[in-house]
This record gives sequence, C-alpha cells and structure tokens, in this order.
Amino acid sequence: MSLSGLNSLYREMILDHSEHPHHKHKLENSTNKVTLKNPTCGDVINLEINVSDEKITDIGFTGEGCTISQSSASMMTDAVLSKTITESLEMAQIFSDMVMGQKRSAEDLEKLGDAAILSSVMQFPARIKCATLCWWALRKSLGEEVDD
Ligand code: ZN
Repeated sequence: MSLSGLNSLYREMILDHSEHPHHKHKLENSTNKVTLKNPTCGDVINLEINVSDEKITDIGFTGEGCTISQSSASMMTDAVLSKTITESLEMAQIFSDMVMGQKRSAEDLEKLGDAAILSSVMQFPARIKCATLCWWALRKSLGEEVDD
C-alpha cells in the first residue's frame, strides 16, 4: 500500500508505530487471549491481556501484518492499557465509528490518543479492516461476540 496520499505527519506517526511497535511481546501471565486474522491482507494478531479488578493491567500483541495493522495494534495497546473494560470497549466503538466515517465528538476522538490519526485510513476502504483488526481482537478478548 502506498501511504503517499496521507498527510506527512500522520504518515510518519504510522510508520514510527509500525517500525517500533509498543507492547509487541508475549505476556507471561495473561487472563485473556485471542487470535484474529484479516485474510484479505494476511494480517494476524495474537492479543494477550491481563485483566484485574475490571481493568486492563497489562497488554501485549504478537503477529505479522502490514504497516497499518501493526501500527494500529501499537496505538491501540497504548490507548487501552490501564483503562477499565468499559472504557476500553467504548474506545473500540469510537474507533470503529471513526474509520467507518460516523461522526464522533473531538472529545471522544481524543480518548483514542495516537489511534485517532487512523481516521485517515477512511481514504483507503480496503485497509479499514487492517486498522480495525486489533480493536476487534480486543473486543473478543473482553468477551464480546465478534465475526472472525
Ligand atoms: Zn493489512
């Protein structure tokens, strides 16, 4: 995929997260674990989280995939670490609304941290699944029903 259509600041942030992903490692003790694939692109994510007292106390991912999927997972793990399950699921909904082009308030988008810049993938409909894969993995790991 060419990221050349993107604003250069966004492009740099996306590349930086994919080249130096945050929380890309296995967890020694995870309470919740899930693997999801995006067959259209070949992205695979193994997400492990540790939930204690309704909070995500640790999170890590492994797997392979394109720049967008890796970078999105890095941003997602930054965003939800130390948040409650309710807050994390709300963020997953905000993210999915955002990339599908549904209006959310600036305040909501701010909750996503760096992940908010992925609203720019709306320009590339074929890549939306790459960006949402890690958030679906999060939802599934927290017990929500998700279509694989
Ligand atoms: Zn991808």
